Parts: sequence; structure tokens; C-alpha cells
Amino acid sequence: MSDNHDDPLAGAGLDTLAVRAGNARTGEGEHSEPIFATSSYVFANAAEAAARFAGESPGNVYSRYTNPTVRTFEQRIAALEGGEAAVGTASGMAAILSTAMALLQAGDHVVCSRDVFGTTTNLFSKYMARFGVQVSFVPLLDLAAWRDAIRPETAMLFLETPSNPLCEVADMAALSTLAHDNNCLLVVDNCFCTPALQRPLALGADIVVHSATKYLDGQGRCVGGAVVGSARHMQEVETFLRTCGPTMSAFNAWVFLKGLETLRLRMNAHSESALALATWLQQQDAVERVYYAGLTTHPGHALASRQQSAYGGVLSFQIKGGQEEAWKVIDATRIMSLTANLGDAKTTIVHPATTTHGRLSDEQREQAGISRNLIRVSVGLEDVDDLKADLQRGFAALA
Ligand SMILES: *Cc1c(COP(=O)(O)O)cnc(C)c1O
Repeated sequence: MSDNHDDPLAGAGLDTLAVRAGNARTGEGEHSEPIFATSSYVFANAAEAAARFAGESPGNVYSRYTNPTVRTFEQRIAALEGGEAAVGTASGMAAILSTAMALLQAGDHVVCSRDVFGTTTNLFSKYMARFGVQVSFVPLLDLAAWRDAIRPETAMLFLETPSNPLCEVADMAALSTLAHDNNCLLVVDNCFCTPALQRPLALGADIVVHSATKYLDGQGRCVGGAVVGSARHMQEVETFLRTCGPTMSAFNAWVFLKGLETLRLRMNAHSESALALATWLQQQDAVERVYYAGLTTHPGHALASRQQSAYGGVLSFQIKGGQEEAWKVIDATRIMSLTANLGDAKTTIVHPATTTHGRLSDEQREQAGISRNLIRVSVGLEDVDDLKADLQRGFAALA
């Protein structure tokens, strides 16, 4: 964060930064970070107001521009990702939109992984295209396809790893070399791993985006997002936010700060339970195939072991049969929540082919490997034995 050798957090570890980075106490001596529930700020005199408005003196003006609670969140997530700066946003989609609006212009081209969050696909293909930014979609793991898709006007490569729901793992170092050889920015959505498990900037990515709604909160309370990168890029993103407005609220920033304090503990627990559940699922007669990069049988296992410190909380599996069997298993569960959200202390279960990936054509869905017998589980923090018993109810319903 700072190369100031008086900074007690200089060189601090991730767990220390997660608890302490960005915390500047007020004169009240509060221990927990305060929520600055204020839309605007007062100035000592007219000259100070003029200087603030002119950008000549630092300090708060209005909470669409800056807010101390949001700033604490920004400094903390920047420290965790190893970036120079960060910008908090109203949602994960606002983070992606702000990145695109700040760093692209009409005539630019983007190469985007085919296997990104569905709304991200729409943002690029439906909205950015309207403003003259072209996009090509390529399979996440096909490096040659990424290379072939790059044009002289390509400005950005965008991906998510591991992918949802099949846990495919992209080689970020190779893609960053490809991006930089072609004067492109590499943008990575780090929602599934979070900086507790994977730090894309250290592997060459230029920008990390987050849906803070998922694991950064971790308890399914608030919607928010973040963009992390160099001070120069974040200045551009911040200027977009000031002008266009999808800023993070102070209350949400506070919830995310509390979430970050337990981020690594939670991510390790999610990962441990997901691995136990995946291993168990592999042994069940009713199950055809399990997708989880923590399994040595997963094609992305070796790469995930290099890039990530653990394998995350999301797994998916194919049940023997088709949609009817998958729905039976889902409907038989009584502990897991049937919802498309993920990254929560509560385990969630969903049928991707008819929900998260329901808008795709049959052909697109087949290409993406989203079969009708596929079930995704975002493994929460409950006892794993209870989760096994919950799925067992479904398997029994099939027998
Ligand atoms: C949920 C999600 C988003 C969008 O985030 P919101 O906070 O819902 O706007 C983006 N990327 C990934 C990988 C997500 O899971």
C-alpha cells in the first residue's frame, strides 16, 4: 500500500491486512470502523470549499465522490489484491461497467471468455456494442483462440477463473503475456477465489474486478463491487463513477469491511468442505461426474494448484439421467437453499441449464458444457455431513 517505512502495515501478511488495512480512526477513538452516513461534507471557509471543488486540496466533498467508510474498504481490498488503488462500486456489474466505460472507447475491441457470468456477456454484447465497442467470445482454455481473436484495435481481454459452473482454470500468466504483447489490458473477475486464494495482479493481470456481493460479504447481505489496479487506471474508473454515479454506499462498505476480516478463514473453510463434498460425490452411484479443481481427476487441477492456495467453494456434478433426475435431487434437499446466489455461509444449489444459463440456446449451452443433468452447489459453512445427508435424500428419491 505504502512504501513509507513508518507504515506499521508495510510488508504485513494478508490476514493482517484483511483486518487492519485502511483503518484511520477519528478523534473518538472508536475501535471498529465507523459508518459515515453522510451525503455531503462541510468546509471550514469559502476558500477551502473553492480549493476542494477545484481539486486543489484533498478532502471530502460529496459521497458520490468519496466517503471515508468506502475509502477504508477500497484501501483494504487494494491491499489484499496487491494493487495500488481500488474503487468501490454499487454492484459487481457496476464494477465491470465502470471498468469498460473508463478504459474503452468507440472503435475498441474486447476479447472475452465465453465462460463468464451471463450478465457480463450481455453487458459486452448488448450494451457496449451499442456504443461502438466490439466483442468476441472465446473458450476460456483455448489460448490459440484468444490469440486468433486479437485484432489491431483489441484493447482488453476479460476472463473469470475458475469458471462457473465447471471450475475450468485459465492460465493467467500466459494470458497476461498474450495481452501485453498485443498492448491489451488483462481484466480478471476474481469473484470465485477472492484474494484469499488467488491474486491475479501478481500473475500479470492489470485489473481485478469483484462482485463483493459474494464472498467478500460472505453472508448474503449486501450488493456491491470493486475494481482494483494501478493508480492511473483507478483514477479513470473513479472519474467515471463521480460522473455517472454507480458508487458504493457507506453502509454496504462497512458490511464488506466486516466480511473481509474473516475472508481467509471462510475461504479456507468453504474450500475444505467443497473438497470433502466433491470427493464424496465422486463415490456416489447416482453421480456421473464431478467438476471441482481440487480433485486430482479435474483437468485444471495442476494449474489451480499453482495459481490458487485452495480450490474455492463452488462445485458442480452431473447426475445419472437428465433434467428430471437433476430437478428431483434439487427438490429433495431440505437444508441447501435453492437460489442462484453463491459465496454465502449458507449452501446454495441450482440447476444451471434452466436458471443461470437458461437464456443460452441449446447449442450455446452444449458448447459451454452446461448439460441438463448438471447441478451446481456453492458450499457454505454448515457441517459437511449434513450437506451429504441433504444430497443423499435426493439420491434416495431417484433410486
Ligand atoms: C455475481 C457475479 C457478478 C455480478 O455481481 P453483482 O454484484 O450481482 O452485480 C459478476 N461476476 C461474477 C463471477 C459473479 O458471480
